[in-house]
Amino acid sequence: MAQVYKNVIRCQSCGTLKSNSLGCNNCENSKEKYNKICVVEDIADQWSIENSNIYKGYFHILGGTISSAGQRKEDLLINSLVERVSRENIEEVILATSATVEGQTTAYYIEDSLKKTSTKVTKLAQGLPVGGEIESLDDGTLYSAFKNRTGIKTNSD
Ligand SMILES: [Zn+2]
Repeated sequence: MAQVYKNVIRCQSCGTLKSNSLGCNNCENSKEKYNKICVVEDIADQWSIENSNIYKGYFHILGGTISSAGQRKEDLLINSLVERVSRENIEEVILATSATVEGQTTAYYIEDSLKKTSTKVTKLAQGLPVGGEIESLDDGTLYSAFKNRTGIKTNSD
């Protein structure tokens, strides 16, 4: 296992863990081209959503939230998210940050950063328990949160 971990690095573009020697399955080598990106705080959140089979699309892992200890906006992969959205013709960005103050602050900041793109931004429905972290939700809750996600940005013209 030590050998495996040694060759695993964080993708600079989407934040997922990938092999040092290969391209990134999450954002570069996708066999299918998706038009959605789901933004999560960490890799455990991506695994929860993947395992529940409720979402098909790209993931983007921020690596934390804005106000968690020692994390600054610059440390999170927000600029690279804006780049991906512009480059890959993404139609919808789903913000799946936790229902915590930090998670919501981060979501607000990302929404603001995406204003200059024409992409629709949605966030998971408010059925999330307050303080709920994505990775701790059961599939049923996650499913309804996805299904009932709401638009938080509409194009004014
Ligand atoms: Zn990647």
